[in-house]
Amino acid sequence: MMEQEELDNFIEAGKILSKVRQESKSLIMVGEPLLEIAETIETMIYDEDVEPAFPVNISINEIAAHYTPEFGCEKMLKETDVVKIDLGVSVDGGLADSAYTVDLSEKNGELVKAAQEALDAALAIIKPGVGVGEVGGIIEEKIRSYGFRPISNLTGHMIKTNELHAGISVPNVKSSDNYRFQVGDIFAIEPFVTNGRGHVEDSDQVEIFSLYSPSPIRMRQSRQIIQHVLENYGLAPFAERWLREKFPSKLLVSAALKEMLSAQVIRGYPILKEQTGSLVSQFEHTILIEENGIRILTK
Ligand code: MN
Ligand code: MN
Repeated sequence: MMEQEELDNFIEAGKILSKVRQESKSLIMVGEPLLEIAETIETMIYDEDVEPAFPVNISINEIAAHYTPEFGCEKMLKETDVVKIDLGVSVDGGLADSAYTVDLSEKNGELVKAAQEALDAALAIIKPGVGVGEVGGIIEEKIRSYGFRPISNLTGHMIKTNELHAGISVPNVKSSDNYRFQVGDIFAIEPFVTNGRGHVEDSDQVEIFSLYSPSPIRMRQSRQIIQHVLENYGLAPFAERWLREKFPSKLLVSAALKEMLSAQVIRGYPILKEQTGSLVSQFEHTILIEENGIRILTK
């Protein structure tokens, strides 16, 4: 189990995230520019003297995850949008990860409610000794009771210091995965609900990357970016738009990212879309497993 000091970082990250998440809700309105929403939320995090654990994700309608606005993005929220806001906070590597959905369409309340209730149902049964596959079953059952489907290839995940996805997954469908929650574990639980088929696939667009394994590389721009990322974000995910302040040439940055991807110096997180183009909702909390149950760190 981790030291108290290490655990305190997670607890602090959770508290800050909760505050920022609550304050961010007033930004999610028809007509709001996506870039302004993302930058405002990221500024709120920096203003707490901590760092975003990853770029703020604003995933709309059939996009389930991994979209963050492009540099110079002029898109605005529309009155037909189902909007997922997913944010992360890092306090010296103690990570909190949480997401919520807003239905601007006002026609998809049930889709949103199903995700919220699936998360609540999962949190209500988690305690030491409960299996992750069993939790997946509870999530699936709740979602299907609404007539929707869980997204079966997106999962919750164990979190460790500086490691957002630390190996163990929590499925959103019933499974025979046999890991059992233990006292001191930290997990993010995140049901995704769709009125489509229930699978996401990679799209061609990638806006979020992380440094994978620094190694020699040819382009000068690539070497400069690696240095900049190491100094500012370490191994945490970063957005292309975050680079463009320092590296203004879109052409050079794109070429460098391409070179670094093919040399496996960085990895990309492609935007994930529901396979049939159907709507997706999501809620997420980070939890600590305790003797008699859980503590919701991002409550
Ligand atoms: Mn998340
Ligand atoms: Mn997560």
